[in-house]
Amino acid sequence: MSRIFDRRDFLKLSGAAAALAAAGCATTSQKARVVVIGGGFGGATAAKYIRMWDPAIEVVMVERANIFTSCPISNLVLGGSKTMEDIRHSYDGLRRHGVQVVNDEATAVDAEKKLVKLENGGELKYDRLIVSPGIDFMFDQITGYEAAMKTNRVLHAWKAGAQTIELQKQLAAMKDGGVFVLSVPLAPYRCPPGPYERACQVASYFKKTKPRSKVLILDANPDVTSKGPLFKKAWAELYPGMIEFRGNSKAVGVDAQTGTVKLEVEDVRGDVLNVVPPQRAGDIAVKAGLITANNRWCGVDWRTMESAAVKGVHVLGDATLSAPLMPKSGAMANQHAKICASAVVAMINGQAPNPEPKIANTCYSFVSDGEAIHVASVHTWDDKDKTLKTVPGSGGVSSARNAMEAGYAWAWAVNVWQDTLG
Ligand SMILES: Cc1cc2nc3c(=O)[nH]c(=O)nc-3n(C[C@H](O)[C@H](O)[C@H](O)COP(=O)(O)OP(=O)(O)OC[C@H]3O[C@@H](n4cnc5c(N)ncnc54)[C@H](O)[C@@H]3O)c2cc1C
Repeated sequence: MSRIFDRRDFLKLSGAAAALAAAGCATTSQKARVVVIGGGFGGATAAKYIRMWDPAIEVVMVERANIFTSCPISNLVLGGSKTMEDIRHSYDGLRRHGVQVVNDEATAVDAEKKLVKLENGGELKYDRLIVSPGIDFMFDQITGYEAAMKTNRVLHAWKAGAQTIELQKQLAAMKDGGVFVLSVPLAPYRCPPGPYERACQVASYFKKTKPRSKVLILDANPDVTSKGPLFKKAWAELYPGMIEFRGNSKAVGVDAQTGTVKLEVEDVRGDVLNVVPPQRAGDIAVKAGLITANNRWCGVDWRTMESAAVKGVHVLGDATLSAPLMPKSGAMANQHAKICASAVVAMINGQAPNPEPKIANTCYSFVSDGEAIHVASVHTWDDKDKTLKTVPGSGGVSSARNAMEAGYAWAWAVNVWQDTLG
């Protein structure tokens, strides 16, 4: 709605009031205002739970997209068993909880004045700010990437949306006998098992439609980074001769003209190039001064998710410097959000946050359209090392792929979408 708000009317209002009016929301005199940047797994969950746990707190969520598009299940769109409609969800559920959804880009944060600047010219004042912008890509680490991307000759499809649709089109247009090259960056990156699930889904699609084709995984890591034995068994048994894995194969360049991925020692040609670049916290986290580690990630106090760099600002999800053995996943971002929502509600009400939070992760991967596998972990506060650590003996991986896990995996997705947005 902010796009169609009359500009002259907009300018008559003060920044924050304008942005809220543009979003169809009245400003109210509530006890505090929390602004959330990013309506993905982390931000949307935090916005909803703060409203549920204390309706007297005003929550304004700024999100550049007007619809939520889920990365989980997006690989199945490539495999052909799900559609883009299956992974798109409205923000109306959040609105029903009283979250004021502002469809705009947050361009800057002034932590001293406690305000967020919006692309459309408005400003939002906050008492506490939550930043959950996901990842942005370090394109400059791969020579030729940005130029190649402009021609659609190389895609990442690592943020579900337009690139997922384009990759699906390229797979459909590829000749039988073609090679799909999937390049995986060095960990840490968003969704450790995601690339290997993608390899399965593309192979599943090839098996049905163009069985002479190949999937070539060029992995910068020495070996499969998640559920390795289960994935390798699925590749050998479900797609014999179709999926090739090469470790220690870091992409350093791409050439759109020749359709090649350049490794340190050789060039590899492919018909469809899916090169996932190295990642860091989303741009707004950089602009807001929240980066604390390796120029990439945001350190936080895991008891509150408050930034280690800027007071009054909390960071969630993929943008955080992950605690030991913690994956960058939607499940984790959703759980970070609950630690944060609980702490923010406590702090605003003058109470102490939970001193020992515990959270859990389960990442499912579909190895075909009918079978899945999982990895799970439980993370608890460790007072000695001041971080979240995995609980010894908790978690683990599936004993084998099976159809029952596929049912659980789909149920997980439906539940997490409902928990985040419904
Ligand atoms: C192919 C694939 C498969 C995956 N499968 C799974 C899975 O099965 N299970 C699982 O748990 N995880 C999975 N993931 C990982 C999961 O998608 C991410 O970990 C999760 O999305 C992280 O949540 P987040 O809130 O940090 O970021 P996001 O969900 O990316 O949300 C960030 C939001 O912030 C918005 N934004 C950013 N900057 C601004 C700004 N300046 N102004 C306004 N809006 C802004 C973005 O538009 C976006 O909506 C998968 C990922 C991929 C790529």
